[in-house]
Amino acid sequence: MRFMDRIRQSLSRALYGRYGSDQLSRVILYVSIGLLFLAYATGIGLFMTFSFAGYIWAIFRIFSKNKEARARENMLYLQKTEKLRTEIRQARVRFRNRKQYKYFKCPQCRARLRLTRGCGEKTVTCQCCGHKFTMHA
Ligand SMILES: [Zn+2]
Repeated sequence: MRFMDRIRQSLSRALYGRYGSDQLSRVILYVSIGLLFLAYATGIGLFMTFSFAGYIWAIFRIFSKNKEARARENMLYLQKTEKLRTEIRQARVRFRNRKQYKYFKCPQCRARLRLTRGCGEKTVTCQCCGHKFTMHA
């Protein structure tokens, strides 16, 4: 435990006054790791170069003292990927609850709807467009 405490202390000392990790840095690191695997799997050296550049970029961001600029970059990233991140989050919830609910889209407006599994045939009224149709769950 003392060893881990010493590592934690030296890490916090190294990061003092620095920007630190955020969502963008983490995504850059994950993509870099993915590119590293891709480089080994395909043998294409360009992936390795991009992977290495990603590590350098992430380390630069984490140890940057210009906190305002890094926060601005992160906010821009969060704004640009809001829709995609929401889609992924909702897909995860749908996958987690797939045994409890049957998910489907409204045939008219493509809004996502759900029915409790085992409820039989139901007449569904879409809350977005008011379209009525029957669905079996
Ligand atoms: Zn609808």
